[in-house]
Amino acid sequence: MDLLGTPEDKRFREEVRAFLAAHLPADMRQRIRSTGFVSYQDQRQWQRTLDAHGWGAPAWPVAHGGTGWNAGQQMIFADECAMASAPTPHIFNITMLGPVIIHFGNDAQREFFLPRLLNGGILSCQGFSEPNSGSDLASLQTSARRVDGGYVVNGSKIWTSQAHASDWIFCLLRTDSAAAKKQAGISFVVIDLKSPGVTIRPIIGIDGRHSLNQVFFDDVLVPQSGLIGEENKGWDYAKFLLGHERTYVAGIGRTRERISYARELLASRERAGLPAKTAAAWRGRIALIETDVHALEITQLRLMHAGIDQNMASLLKVRGSELYQEIVELAMQIGGAASLRGDCGELTTAYLYSRAVTIYGGSTEVQKNILASTVIGL
Ligand SMILES: Cc1cc2nc3c(=O)[nH]c(=O)nc-3n(C[C@H](O)[C@H](O)[C@H](O)COP(=O)(O)OP(=O)(O)OC[C@H]3O[C@@H](n4cnc5c(N)ncnc54)[C@H](O)[C@@H]3O)c2cc1C
Repeated sequence: MDLLGTPEDKRFREEVRAFLAAHLPADMRQRIRSTGFVSYQDQRQWQRTLDAHGWGAPAWPVAHGGTGWNAGQQMIFADECAMASAPTPHIFNITMLGPVIIHFGNDAQREFFLPRLLNGGILSCQGFSEPNSGSDLASLQTSARRVDGGYVVNGSKIWTSQAHASDWIFCLLRTDSAAAKKQAGISFVVIDLKSPGVTIRPIIGIDGRHSLNQVFFDDVLVPQSGLIGEENKGWDYAKFLLGHERTYVAGIGRTRERISYARELLASRERAGLPAKTAAAWRGRIALIETDVHALEITQLRLMHAGIDQNMASLLKVRGSELYQEIVELAMQIGGAASLRGDCGELTTAYLYSRAVTIYGGSTEVQKNILASTVIGL
């Protein structure tokens, strides 16, 4: 069943394909195809390219630089970008910080940040997790103390993806430690990473790459203009943002791209003499994953039309990240010993990084708790 198959959908798909064929550099495509990973250099360059075409932020309101595309067009765009091994729009800029500033920021913040987030002039990163606050995020301790003209920030954020390559960080900070409910004493604050007192230390991941960091704040002075929305309302803004993040991590296009990669790998192993029976068994497993991805796509499309709700975003995140891990693992098996030697691109690196998708953006166990209490009512 072709869900997005109206003549307008087909025309739009052709337009996106033509754009990708004309603008996606071959070396960038190759890097992403072989590793499933997007470097920050490629991300910044691609964000600039998308913005120059007016496609930097597909889901933003048109008044703020969005495209005006409907839900189906947004899915076609995401799908085609993934299938072409192109980066998506920068997740922290476009899917997280931008929508929060559009909805809760003031005019000056919108005027300063939105064009820069759109064109990659600013790259932002997400400072939510702390050494002692991950799943239980509301227990966070990094503090912002009110002083004349702003706040003084002290504490530390951890697992901050791409902080070393970013210009600004958006943080959840404790502004009221005496609040009756811990969620009620948290504010959403943006901080220039060049501010005195900010230190960024690398954390090398299981995949051997540097994408993670710990960020330290020692008496960092943040002007009042860094507060987004109202003081102590940051938890509400974070919930709004995490709903967007979890939808993104459903990653249907990204999984489809890995399916096509696995098929390509299987074909090359068949050419090299893989027994037909083994190849048929693997083809069957790929088809099963593809069927599940299709079912998830139908669900996502339905939810996008209805207006995504936060609990459903958890559902998409759980299933989407499981399917991504299944296909990446299957590709490792198809590659066989060669995937360990690196003859099949960087399959091992991709496999090791894929272990994180059921953790970041809220772990699978915690998403299931949310679904159990809010959807099933347990
Ligand atoms: C690759 C990667 C990139 C990341 N990028 C960022 C980023 O850019 N910015 C950012 O702020 N954070 C980032 N994170 C952090 C991520 O959001 C946290 O790792 C995640 O929320 C889990 O928190 P934790 O690591 O403290 O684990 P914990 O909360 O300590 O959990 C440990 C284990 O216990 C389980 N668990 C916890 N509570 C429950 C419960 N109530 N019921 C059942 N099981 C439970 C969890 O599922 C997990 O398996 C990233 C993490 C990774 C791995």
